[in-house]
Amino acid sequence: MKINRRRSSRIYVGKVSVGGDSPISVQSMTNTPTSDIESTINQIKELEKAGVDIVRVSVPDSGSAESLKTIKDNINVPIVADIHFNYRIAIKSIENGADCLRINPGNIPKNRIKEIVSCAKEYNIPIRIGINGGSLEETLKNKYKFPTSELLVESSMRCIDLFDKLNFYKFKVSLKSSDVLVTVNAYRIISNKIDQPLHIGITESGGITAGSIKSSIGLGILLSEGIGDTLRVSLSANPVKEVKVGIEILKALSIRSYGINFISCPTCARQEFNVIKTLNSLEEKFKNISVPMTVAIIGCIVNGHGESKNSTIGLVGTKSKSILYEDGIKKKERICNSEIIKQLEKKIKDKIDEIMIKNLKIRRK
Ligand code: SF4
Repeated sequence: MKINRRRSSRIYVGKVSVGGDSPISVQSMTNTPTSDIESTINQIKELEKAGVDIVRVSVPDSGSAESLKTIKDNINVPIVADIHFNYRIAIKSIENGADCLRINPGNIPKNRIKEIVSCAKEYNIPIRIGINGGSLEETLKNKYKFPTSELLVESSMRCIDLFDKLNFYKFKVSLKSSDVLVTVNAYRIISNKIDQPLHIGITESGGITAGSIKSSIGLGILLSEGIGDTLRVSLSANPVKEVKVGIEILKALSIRSYGINFISCPTCARQEFNVIKTLNSLEEKFKNISVPMTVAIIGCIVNGHGESKNSTIGLVGTKSKSILYEDGIKKKERICNSEIIKQLEKKIKDKIDEIMIKNLKIRRK
């Protein structure tokens, strides 16, 4: 089933295009002190390995803004400087090579936003208007008791109107709340008001389990309605997890093919080999692989043949030796149940090589 995406305008965050018919990008944010250049570079490299497209770093002080230059020189993904309160740090971040700014109109006065926009124009970089239910401007806080969807939209529209007056259109918008339904509704409203790309996310969503569920529901609803051009899953966890969950959300909706899509059964008394141990081991071994393929690891014949027929590699548990499928075709070769992990690892590696060589040949044509 194909999702009809909302038609948005396109901006560029460094070399990554956002909006229009660009792929939906996955973002994350570092949690190292940005002034600790080495730790920040190392963390961004970990995020790159996990498949991140764009990384945001917080810039709370002038030293952090200065660090951006060296950080940028040592990484491969575009960097977004996250700015609150201080317009001078925003300007310094632009001067030091930020590919985009995220500003929070809730804590930067209008006249200062004008100065930031003027600098962004000069350096030709976009800005994200990042509205957050936890840090709205005082005048709006008093108008509504709770951060409603309408309130998030109103806050963003004030800034969008200002950008309009300044003839600045290279921006994207986020309207995040920790309440899933408030967030979803806010994005639905704004998606009918502006053409610019939307950065979607559920903010302050909690730890890995709760946060992944809230994000999957919120972003899943929006993406299935065609809303969202770039996303971030916000977790109180290692940011690498945010990237993994973000990519899995896109994979679950068939929006993106990336890495191995493991299909495995929940296991029961019928399982003929240890499905959970096999899955955990293979997931860990291939966690940084980007080549897309589907691997089915199914404990018995009940669902094994059906799933394997639709997989790149499939394994159906049977007594002592399990049945192997490759590209949906049942092979004569059987895999000894005591060697499943080793044998499947080899099969997957061979398949990755085969796909990569095939892709290379297609590119050369
Ligand atoms: S596929 Fe077989 S082993 Fe796996 S849960 Fe279903 S019945 Fe149990």
